[in-house]
Formats: sequence, structure tokens, C-alpha cells
Amino acid sequence: MKAIVLFGSPGSGKGTQAKLLTECLAVPHVSTGDMLRGRIRQEVGMAKEMAATMAATMQAGALVSDQVVDVMVEERLSEADAAQGFVLDGYPRTRAQAERFCAWLDGRGIREVVIHLAVDYNVIIARLTGRRECPRCGTLYNVAFHPPKVDELCDLDGEALVVRDDDREPVIRERLDAYERQTRPVLEYLLAAGRRVVEVDASNDPPDLVYRKIGQAIETDDCSQNRR
Ligand code: ADP
Repeated sequence: MKAIVLFGSPGSGKGTQAKLLTECLAVPHVSTGDMLRGRIRQEVGMAKEMAATMAATMQAGALVSDQVVDVMVEERLSEADAAQGFVLDGYPRTRAQAERFCAWLDGRGIREVVIHLAVDYNVIIARLTGRRECPRCGTLYNVAFHPPKVDELCDLDGEALVVRDDDREPVIRERLDAYERQTRPVLEYLLAAGRRVVEVDASNDPPDLVYRKIGQAIETDDCSQNRR
């Protein structure tokens, strides 16, 4: 069982690392941000008004209610493809979510490892303001650090890249505030509760190197070896 929780500020590289990890470990990538955006698009399991409220919350850079996210994650992790493990990205994000999630894991005898991607604040700002996403395949780019081969087009499928609504500057500030206020205390809680937390310095190293450090931390040599 590989239960990996990627923890870090917006822009710390959770999505990029999650993609690399899931390819190697053959477990699903469970991203609460992606799931929420998907649900809103398709209005899954909710009325139109609720989808609109949720979209407004996310566009403002604030957090969606614990109740909604807790149930969504528990249902997703109970699906058959997550039986051998998962890479969780974006959860838990509040202390209440963390308490509930730890109890959920303990109830199933699952021993998770939390990877904290630690990144300098100024690097975060530069990354978030330059971020572009392919709306078709989800590949992430950055105009400064990892541009596509052809300006503003996805390398894989040629689709025009987009800036996520919540990657605009005032919203970025809100998201970082929400992180400091609500999410950083989760780390303190996890450490105090004696959970396994590994800190990985992810400020300056390219994604491949960060990935190798994670591979070492979770003792999966096969992942780092494949990419050498
Ligand atoms: P980032 O980590 O870059 O902020 P995400 O895609 O993980 O981006 O999340 C986007 C938004 O989705 C958040 O700003 C928040 O509104 C909502 N969200 C995602 N995960 C959670 C969560 N665990 N609890 C509450 N809201 C969440």
C-alpha cells in the first residue's frame, strides 16, 4: 500500500510531482482541486446553485467547506483502483480535515507518508503568476521556468494553454493567505500527532530532482532509477 499525501503551498509543485509519482507507482492521482473543478463543470451530485456557490468560493481563492471535501475524498479513496494506494494532492487542508482523515486512515490500518514540499515565498509567487495549463490533458507549464516549445500551445496535443481563473494575482494572494491561516497549522497538527512527515526542499531544484528526493523518502528506488 502506497498512501502518499503531498502537502505544500499552492505552487509548491504538488501537481507536477503527483503526476510523476502516479506514473511510476501505478496508483491514482487524487487531486481535490481537479475533482472540485470537474464536479462544478458537470454539476455532479449537486444542484446548480451549489455548483455556482462553490465556483465563486474557488474563484475568490477561499476554501470549499470541509464537509463537501471530506465526503468526496473518502468516496474516491474507497474506489477499487485506490486499494493499492494513492497520491493525494490538496487534502487535508484544514485542521478539521486532517483530524477526520487521520481517523479514517487509522480505521483502515493505512499508514500514510506525508511529503511536505517546502518552497520559498518569492519562488511561489513567480511560479503561480507564470502558470499555464492545457485544458485538454492537464499538462502544466510555466512561461518562465518550463515554457512550451511553441508559445502558449501544449507540447502534447497542440491545444491553446489557459490561465486558471484562480491564478490571477489578487486571487493568488488570497490563496496564499488561506494557506498560511488554515493549511500551515495542518502540518503542526500532523507533526504533533506523530504522523510520518518528510520535508523535501523544493525551492530551487528541477522537478526531476525533487522527484528523486521524494523517491528516496518513500523508499521506492524503482521510481528514481527509471528516470535517471
Ligand atoms: P492550489 O493548490 O494550487 O491552490 P488546487 O487545485 O489544489 O490548487 O485547489 C484549488 C481550489 O480548490 C482551492 O483554492 C480551494 O478553493 C479548493 N480546494 C481544493 N482542495 C480543497 C480542500 N481540501 N478543502 C477545501 N477546499 C479545497
